[in-house]
Amino acid sequence: MMAQYDINDIDNEVKTWFRGLNLLIPSLIKQMQTDTKKNRFDLVTNVDQTLESNFEGLIKDLYPDHKLYGEESHHDTTDLKQGYTWVMDPIDGTANLVKQQNDFCIILALFVDGTPTLSYIYDFPRQTLYHAKKGEGAFVNHKRLEQVQAQPLSELIVSFNNKVLNDATMHDLLDASFAYRLIGACGLDSIRVCTGQFGAHIHTNAKPWDIAAQFLFASELGLKMTDFNNKAIDFVRGGPFIISNPGCHDEVLNILLSNGGYHK
Ligand code: NAP
Ligand code: CA
Ligand code: CA
Repeated sequence: MMAQYDINDIDNEVKTWFRGLNLLIPSLIKQMQTDTKKNRFDLVTNVDQTLESNFEGLIKDLYPDHKLYGEESHHDTTDLKQGYTWVMDPIDGTANLVKQQNDFCIILALFVDGTPTLSYIYDFPRQTLYHAKKGEGAFVNHKRLEQVQAQPLSELIVSFNNKVLNDATMHDLLDASFAYRLIGACGLDSIRVCTGQFGAHIHTNAKPWDIAAQFLFASELGLKMTDFNNKAIDFVRGGPFIISNPGCHDEVLNILLSNGGYHK
């Protein structure tokens, strides 16, 4: 029999863990070492690796039957939809961390039997914790986030990586929207949609850890989160991803799929 846990207790433990990072991350950044993975843009640091193994330590101590699916070292995908599964991007926006020491975050989410149950995006440089609990809403630090009001694309800012869309599609999006902005960290670009500051964030090839927390934020805040065919995304697989204001979702997808499609 699988152990049962109180979600509120887990939430409190994780928030305590996040508070502990306020001491840990500055010391890791002081001794920051950067390596490349697949190519010169694919960076990883001791900060990414230490945070993931530090969180793994917490899970092993408190919840030994929970599974961890993390970017840096935990890629076993068996049975992730059974029981308690944590998905983690220990540093999202590593290029921003290395080049700017700003605009990076930690993405963490708990799925229980495949259902998004707890979500966190920690904007470390701004010391701001976005969190959500299934059925109870989404919060920024202690303040509840309001449901996002539907607006048309012409009134909204869109965000996407400008290296990955074909030029015609990119220009159609720029023409149809109010403006374009990109932070360069999928978690933080997505959070701007959650707060109503951006209309949509698109990632054509999101990994599970880039979008793990966004499922619950989207459902608690009345946002749309789908693939580009308006279908649900499998949290174990990731793939094409849009999180958007409900008023512009269809319009953005229409643009992405017309004019030769979005592929470069
Ligand atoms: P970046 O500043 O390195 O990263 C921007 C965001 O994309 C971060 O959330 C980052 O997560 C994530 N990311 C980084 N490398 C990725 C990859 N190979 N595939 C998917 N997501 C990735 O972005 P960049 O310097 O503009 O680009 C770096 C590479 O990522 C390029 O090859 C770019 O084409 C690709 N990328 C693709 C998309 C897309 O929509 N297909 C979006 C962003 C980046 P971490 O910080 O955790 O790595
Ligand atoms: Ca990432
Ligand atoms: Ca990462």
